[in-house]
Amino acid sequence: MLKNVVGIVVSEVPFKENSKILNILTEEGIIGVTSKGCKNLKSPLRTISSKFIYGEFTIYYSEDHLSTLKEGTMLEDFYNIKTNLELISYLSYITELVMQVVKQNSSSDIYKMYIATIRKINAGLNPKVMMNILEIKLLDYLGVGINLNACCKCGSNKNIITIDPDAGGYICSNCHTNEIIYDEKTRKMLRMYYLVDIDSVTDLKIKDYVIDNINYFLSTYYDRYTGLYIHSKEFLNRTIN
Ligand SMILES: [Zn+2]
Repeated sequence: MLKNVVGIVVSEVPFKENSKILNILTEEGIIGVTSKGCKNLKSPLRTISSKFIYGEFTIYYSEDHLSTLKEGTMLEDFYNIKTNLELISYLSYITELVMQVVKQNSSSDIYKMYIATIRKINAGLNPKVMMNILEIKLLDYLGVGINLNACCKCGSNKNIITIDPDAGGYICSNCHTNEIIYDEKTRKMLRMYYLVDIDSVTDLKIKDYVIDNINYFLSTYYDRYTGLYIHSKEFLNRTIN
């Protein structure tokens, strides 16, 4: 069955002498395709059969086996990301993260948020902020969303004084022991990250310490609650620090 899909190539592996097997992330999930002869210099499949190509692909679709790529057209080249090592590191990390989330949850929203995040990073918005916005939203799809309504120890919504990644959410003054204090600006911004529609994010005016607080919080929360190990996170940390 011939089928048109829009998606992004999230991995490529060599196959036989001149071919590749690609995984394309689409709204319907991950589709594995063989791209026959794409390593030949004259192959029309050559340019579109590479990691991080976002395009429209025509495939001979197979439900049970690998599909076969017939042709494809690039839709956006994400040039600004692909020419910047730091931004490539962010893209690698969020791609690996999203791949792990789609294995656990088939919602098409994940793909939409992923593409929206890439567009915003390519448009020059702060990549750490965009990554964190995506990360906090993905927690719901992993079944470990942060409770941003009440103290996670006693359930009270009064006198919230900090948020703690190990405890898993807000902490009120009665329950506070020795947790680090994250100020109201940080807590409010974390909530904004969670609620904002990624497509609508434009100008970001966020203080550096707030950005770093939130990044630290989410990194710790992910380690504690998601059980995911994202290989490219280490590379990202080495690149940006
Ligand atoms: Zn409490």
